[in-house]
Amino acid sequence: MKVLKFGGTSVGSAERMKNLVSLINSNEPKIVVLSAMSGTTNSLVEIANALYVKENDKAKMLIDALEKKYESVLKELYSKESSLNKGKELVKNHFEFIRSFTLDMFTANEEKAILAQGELLSTAMVHFYLEEIGIDSVLLPALNFMRIDENDEPDMKYIEENLKTEINKHLAPSKSPPSWETLNSPSLKGKGGMGLLFITQGYICRNAFGEIDNLKRGGSDYTATIIGAALSAEEIQIWTDIDGMHNNDPRMVEKTFPVTELSFDEAAELAYFGAKILHPTCVLPAQKRKVPVRLLNTMQPQAKGTLITDKASTHRITAVAAKDGIIAIKIKSARMLLAYGFLRNVFEIFERYKTPIDMITTSEVAVSVTIDNDKNLDAIVKELQEFCSVEIDKEQSIVCVVGSFSADKQGYASRIFDALKNIPIRMISYGGSKNNVSILVETKHKKDALVALNKGLFNL
Ligand code: ADP
Ligand code: ASP
Ligand code: MG
Repeated sequence: MKVLKFGGTSVGSAERMKNLVSLINSNEPKIVVLSAMSGTTNSLVEIANALYVKENDKAKMLIDALEKKYESVLKELYSKESSLNKGKELVKNHFEFIRSFTLDMFTANEEKAILAQGELLSTAMVHFYLEEIGIDSVLLPALNFMRIDENDEPDMKYIEENLKTEINKHLAPSKSPPSWETLNSPSLKGKGGMGLLFITQGYICRNAFGEIDNLKRGGSDYTATIIGAALSAEEIQIWTDIDGMHNNDPRMVEKTFPVTELSFDEAAELAYFGAKILHPTCVLPAQKRKVPVRLLNTMQPQAKGTLITDKASTHRITAVAAKDGIIAIKIKSARMLLAYGFLRNVFEIFERYKTPIDMITTSEVAVSVTIDNDKNLDAIVKELQEFCSVEIDKEQSIVCVVGSFSADKQGYASRIFDALKNIPIRMISYGGSKNNVSILVETKHKKDALVALNKGLFNL
């Protein structure tokens, strides 16, 4: 059984939705995870923002415009009157729901309910299209099985149990014990020659209180890897608008190329440090269960893409990524030298405010750390100032060079810093893991740093 995830652009128009069918048309059971149509989640965020500040007329205008867009997609997508009517009913219901929030109080919970509408719409639209062309598919409601815990981590035990229960409802309702394992049998056929086909929403989930929530922006990738891990799938495929993980950020740098193979460790570092093609933490579930992840291009399905496995890579510089919105905090104490317990006191503060630290560098009298979440910055600084002096630098970016830098091989550091010789560097972290060298620069120097590394490390 495979899990196939299609991102925003891959379901971004009626034409792309139709194209998707040719990509899932194989004779094997599969679970297809869909994002919202591209632009939809951004529009829903905009609507929510307007509602937060009580600009209800603006919100209504935005809602009307988005609904019109969906109405025109329906006309292109369906040729049968009956499917078109079903589609119209669907869109009407979801937009009535969104519109209902213009009358009520608006809090973070309502926002999350609004943000969930994009994936609910796209999955139902594709499901109706498949029905129209005579292909059986089952819509699995993600809100019935996808859940995060109090720490916003996927609740794997709950997900596994409930996903299997949902699947079993459609496989063998009378049979027990659970028969979801039969998904790995190619003999399960639907109508129209396709293997058994499940469709579900990416991104959306419930939280520990049972409320509608989400896996953060770009979270459909995470849905796919969580499902792939929960079912120990044969492979997870992430279908997007580019032919795999490139060696550098194609939005910033002109000449980049796809990396055909990555280890889980390398992919996890690149995703976490800004390679937008993957959600920051989506590699982890697949890595835990050793399920290979393949990145593929819907516009160019024959392209090789990138295969991510647990095969360790050896002695190479693989790729570069960058993460913005970083805050550097310099914590200085005259008494730090020989003061054991100092770092613990510092880290405890960050822990209490649930604020993860990305980079750390130390000297005899100071330690610099970076964070990307400024929600509790003021409170953290206040507590730190009780025992040391604190300096803050905002608008920083982590530039991350990923590869396999084993300690027994020399020369990596000099190649990296040679390439960056004209870029002002604020922090350097080398040796934390053998897969990552991180460099902190002001965001205004990020693009130059990425271009310089492309030249210096990849001769491009
Ligand atoms: P989807 O909607 O399919 O999830 P995303 O927009 O989230 O697609 O991710 C794909 C985009 O990620 C690409 O179009 C590309 O601009 C961007 N991207 C950033 N860094 C990389 C990289 N290193 N390799 C490939 N794509 C990257
Ligand atoms: N639709 C969501 C977003 O735009 C999730 C995703 O596309 O992965 O962030
Ligand atoms: Mg994405």
